[in-house]
Amino acid sequence: MIGLSQLVFLVIVITAGYFLTKRIKEIRRNILMGKPLDRSDKSSERLKSMILIAFGQKKMFKKPIPAFLHLLIYVGFLVINLEVLEFVIDGLTGEHRFFAPYLGDFYNVAMNFFEILALGVLISCIIFLIRRNVLKVERFTKPEMKGWPAMDGNLILIIEIVLMVVILKMNAADQVLQSRGVEGYYETGTLYISNVLIPIYQNFSSTLLITIERGAWWFHIVGILAFAVYVTYSKHLHIFLAFPNTYYSNLESKGKIANMDSVTNEVKLMLGMPAENGAAPEEVGRFGAKDATDLSWKSLMEAYSCTECGRCTAECPANQTGKLLSPRKVVMDTRDRIEEIGKGQGREKSLLGDYITNEEINACTSCNACTEACPVNIDPLSIILEMKRYVAMEESGSPASWNAMFANIETNFAPWKFAPTDRFNWADDVKQKD
Ligand code: SF4
Ligand code: SF4
Repeated sequence: MIGLSQLVFLVIVITAGYFLTKRIKEIRRNILMGKPLDRSDKSSERLKSMILIAFGQKKMFKKPIPAFLHLLIYVGFLVINLEVLEFVIDGLTGEHRFFAPYLGDFYNVAMNFFEILALGVLISCIIFLIRRNVLKVERFTKPEMKGWPAMDGNLILIIEIVLMVVILKMNAADQVLQSRGVEGYYETGTLYISNVLIPIYQNFSSTLLITIERGAWWFHIVGILAFAVYVTYSKHLHIFLAFPNTYYSNLESKGKIANMDSVTNEVKLMLGMPAENGAAPEEVGRFGAKDATDLSWKSLMEAYSCTECGRCTAECPANQTGKLLSPRKVVMDTRDRIEEIGKGQGREKSLLGDYITNEEINACTSCNACTEACPVNIDPLSIILEMKRYVAMEESGSPASWNAMFANIETNFAPWKFAPTDRFNWADDVKQKD
């Protein structure tokens, strides 16, 4: 017969599962609103890139101390979630420490390992909070980080701290109950980190300790489930999306700018050459990107994978020299805009114009420093480039000096104002002097 607490637990798990599934479907739908892009090639190279960059966090280690602290949080998050599996089984079966009788002494080793990680996560989160709010590291104080993004970054750290403290409190109360031989509290052996908290609980009555232990258990599991739903609305989504995002990275060398197939085909036809695959050029809806739906699905996936760390902006020469451009803002704006489109809102708006200005994109030097710096291989330049293409090809809105250069290339096949036949006129003078 299923008990009341099991029933309540089941309802909570189903509710969290419902909201989580609904949100995942929304994100998937929004990403797939992007234009097609084939990244199905080179699967072994892609796998290697995913293992090194997402799993191994290779690019983070340019700065070893924050990288180590971040790794602690990441590994802690992954490994401590194994303990959540036991929480879920306990919740559904009405048992307490379901795995303890099966794992014997190893259970103590595993629990101590989890506690060490929990302490590591706790310390790392406190250091990161200080770094953001007391030391005010410059990349966390840029204009795009005001308001919700700053609050989101802090909230995640605070939630993790609270969850870790609660799990240590739960284990400490549990150990006191074990030592008193209270029914249902299996011997786990000494848990060394939470053991430090035992003096606080030593004189509490068993009834109060059971309330604290059960309260902490419920708080932790409900907190984890709520956190899982919250993550999908937060920059923390990168803990999942970093994997597909790095798998589908652009594997071409960074300086290589992809041609626009539609333009290539049209030029080939003009020159009497067959179009790609011998096919007639497709009708082009719009050259470049004005709105988020004009970007590829990969750019939209990147927008959801951004950790908002600001490493791209910190490396951007345009940003460093006081220009308006911030590659992080470009990526964040793209995510906000595709979210808006996904909700069926802002039909009169567009990414370029309402979120990102011409002044911002014109400041980009196409240097790729942002792409190089990004720990999860996001490519802000590809978004900027598509918008520049739109401005140049659909609006002729590039700065006058650029338009003159484009016209020269079109007519003279060179950026200068000379006909190709005049290019060597300077040599005539040299010959005359001879
Ligand atoms: S490619 Fe553009 S946005 Fe990226 S770092 Fe260079 S100038 Fe900045
Ligand atoms: S694009 Fe990459 S480097 Fe820039 S803020 Fe996002 S995750 Fe960080």
